[in-house]
Amino acid sequence: MNAPAVNGVPEVPALAAELPELPAYVYDVAALRAHAREVRAALPERVELYYAAKANPEAPLLTALHGIVDGYEVSSGGELAHVHAAVPEAPLAFGGPGKSAEEIAAALREPAVRRWHVESERELRELAAAAGRPVDVLLRVNLPVGDGALDGVALAMGGRPSPFGMDPERIEDCLALLASPGFEHLRLRGIHAHLASGLAAAEQLRVAERVVEWSAALAARHGLPLAEVNVGGGMAVDYADPEARFDWASFGRGLAELLGRHPALTLRIEPGRALTAYCGWYVTEVLDLKHSHGEAFAVVRGGTHHLRTPATRGHAQPFTVLPVDHWPHPWPRPGVTAAPVTVSGQLCTPKDVLAARTPVAGLRAGDRLLFAMAGAYAWNISHHAFLMHPAPVFHYLGARAGSAG
Ligand SMILES: *Cc1c(COP(=O)(O)O)cnc(C)c1O
Repeated sequence: MNAPAVNGVPEVPALAAELPELPAYVYDVAALRAHAREVRAALPERVELYYAAKANPEAPLLTALHGIVDGYEVSSGGELAHVHAAVPEAPLAFGGPGKSAEEIAAALREPAVRRWHVESERELRELAAAAGRPVDVLLRVNLPVGDGALDGVALAMGGRPSPFGMDPERIEDCLALLASPGFEHLRLRGIHAHLASGLAAAEQLRVAERVVEWSAALAARHGLPLAEVNVGGGMAVDYADPEARFDWASFGRGLAELLGRHPALTLRIEPGRALTAYCGWYVTEVLDLKHSHGEAFAVVRGGTHHLRTPATRGHAQPFTVLPVDHWPHPWPRPGVTAAPVTVSGQLCTPKDVLAARTPVAGLRAGDRLLFAMAGAYAWNISHHAFLMHPAPVFHYLGARAGSAG
């Protein structure tokens, strides 16, 4: 292919215009590494950066992040095995609300699992009974954040009824259990919390402060050292503004201040979306363009069975039009000029919408669309089997197998 290149890596729009097979996912792995390095550089030393693999567990991305992140957060036995195979030397933190006996046994056999995020008293008991060797645990708390810090935030999970983690009183019960016979193998390292998704830096900091101060008070009350607090992920990604980024610099400064008040503490964060969202692109072509009751619809090859993100979040996935001038047919080319268009997919459901009523300068059957911000909770959360359309093809730009530099 002849797409223009930056440092040997082809630029995504130029490459997307030339791809022979559509739909396609294109991952700019070099851009992912650069972004992750920036994030890492904005964080103080005593903050460990883990990547939440559920956002996108594709092996080339996991490998690309290796050496930049401190470890990976996995939330199932499947993720554990997959991530460990992709990055065998990397430390793992094992979370998830429904750990089965088989998953617990498998994780206990895997020394790469350095931390357990325990989500219930049942799990703590089951882990203690199965452990047979020292295991480092964090207790996951569902802490109310009562000062309005989480008001109006998407997917807020903290301080309301939830299957995740434990209420603060239950954490106290766990501390009593941990001090009782039979729990000698479990070493309490600290507290884990993942309270919300979609927080800007200032809100995210307030939540982190709240979790740390609560944890410190708990430790003081029980005469325990507080070694670690994991304040979770959920750093905001703004799909309405592809150029915007979470303010890692101010977040890092805030965490440094917080650590200054807790000199013996290690903080950990585990973002998923904010690390990988920007490195993924979904490229497809317009199969048909029609007007229905006064509105324009572009029906593309593929759809939300490949890129479910806009359907789950209810947003318009940002896209650019890559015009294709060649039109091979003798009949008129369907198109629209200077109008809002709803981009839908091939599924027989009105929910198969990638972008509703989005203004375009022009769009025709045969043009290509390049959807941005398709690197997190995209392909891996999509219902691929629905309607039996073919899978997309995958391209990884600038991927270097096993690189850690
Ligand atoms: C999903 C999840 C994350 C990552 O959340 P993002 O919104 O992708 O940053 C981190 N921690 C836990 C426990 C999670 O469930």
